[in-house]
Amino acid sequence: MRTVIKNATVVTMNDAGDILHEADVVIEDGRIVTLFSSLTGEEAYPSVEKRRSADVQIDAEGDVLLPGLINAHTHLAMSLFRNYGNDVALKEWLEDYIWPLEAHLTREEIVAGAKLSILEMLRGGTTTFADMYMEEDAIAEAVKEMGIRALLCPAFTDGSIATRPEEVKRLAAYQKPEGRIQMRLAPHAVYTCSPETLHKVKALGDEWGIGFHLHLAETREEDEQCRKTYGMSPTMLMDRAGLLGPETMLAHAIWLDDDDIACIAARGACCVYNPVSNMKLASGFMPLEKLHRAGVTVALGTDGPSSNNTQDMFREMLIGSLIQKGHMLDPTAADAHTMLWMATRGGALAIGQEKDLGSIEVGKKADLILVDFRHVRHTPKPEDIEAALVYATASDDVRLTMVDGVLRMQDGRFPGQNEEAICQEAENAWRKLHEQKGQHA
Ligand SMILES: [Zn+2]
Repeated sequence: MRTVIKNATVVTMNDAGDILHEADVVIEDGRIVTLFSSLTGEEAYPSVEKRRSADVQIDAEGDVLLPGLINAHTHLAMSLFRNYGNDVALKEWLEDYIWPLEAHLTREEIVAGAKLSILEMLRGGTTTFADMYMEEDAIAEAVKEMGIRALLCPAFTDGSIATRPEEVKRLAAYQKPEGRIQMRLAPHAVYTCSPETLHKVKALGDEWGIGFHLHLAETREEDEQCRKTYGMSPTMLMDRAGLLGPETMLAHAIWLDDDDIACIAARGACCVYNPVSNMKLASGFMPLEKLHRAGVTVALGTDGPSSNNTQDMFREMLIGSLIQKGHMLDPTAADAHTMLWMATRGGALAIGQEKDLGSIEVGKKADLILVDFRHVRHTPKPEDIEAALVYATASDDVRLTMVDGVLRMQDGRFPGQNEEAICQEAENAWRKLHEQKGQHA
């Protein structure tokens, strides 16, 4: 199977930050085999024949081709709780709204929420996500079916430590070398996992030879409570349990002191910035510049669609940039290139798939998106394409999403998926949950 995307403006996100104009990309068996720009005329193209003999030709004149976006921290199934439990702090949101509903969630409802989120992601240009939840093996089935790429991370708490290892075993059956589904373990947070639980999760991760994905230092209350209970910060507690390493993703990472940042950098752990959730729950500002200065890789994520309330990575880039500028009183903070890097390369590094994902380069997997730049929002034709992508583009401008070289969304349609049925099932699941909550209130 050979696909050619022709005449695109390609934001490669390679190390040099190259942007190619009037470029053609040739894809074979899910990988990029050729990248050719007629303007540079460089011979990256072994044969014109390859272009002519393509099975699928996509004319991308007027479009910008980007690496698929990587949502490095989310909770897919929480799309069912979208627009529910608003304008409260994290503790109240979890205890009064989310946890009582999650107590009733069935496997089928989790799948319904996950499918809804996958549609939303493919629609908005996300090709890979890192999820933290329960029943991840059921979510794996939805991922397999819908063709997106995922790092699935079963969430451990003191309450679930007994049953979760079985789920991990079931999930592992979906994990294949080079496959679209990979897994890590997710000790939820210091306020839901005792040190004993953290040690057990660490031992299980070592047994499977996989890394971790956790919530860290999200609120001031978490930091204060942890110091009071254990005499150390959440970062130091997670480190003491052996959970910080190059294959660890730390979501939020807001309330960090200089020692915490030095520790994260020394261990080579990656952080995930969740600006919209952090602003909505009034959790605080990630010390992004300090983390970057310490050499920490920072990726970007939406967090669950209940505290966001979308999975829109374009909105995340915009707000993530603006709040850093405002917070730092520095217009150079979190510039457009940095935000794009976090949503692509940073994500690939954080999930440990830098070899295959995050940039448009020969040899990498063809996880690609086309953004329509013929829109009135992109008029006049922007000189600074990265700025246009971060400050002016809306996720609805994405007109094509491809994962592993396969078209998963084109012009708002999802080949092979019944969008209406997926939305209806999510609607039914939410109605049922809401009624149940009413009965138990
Ligand atoms: Zn989260």
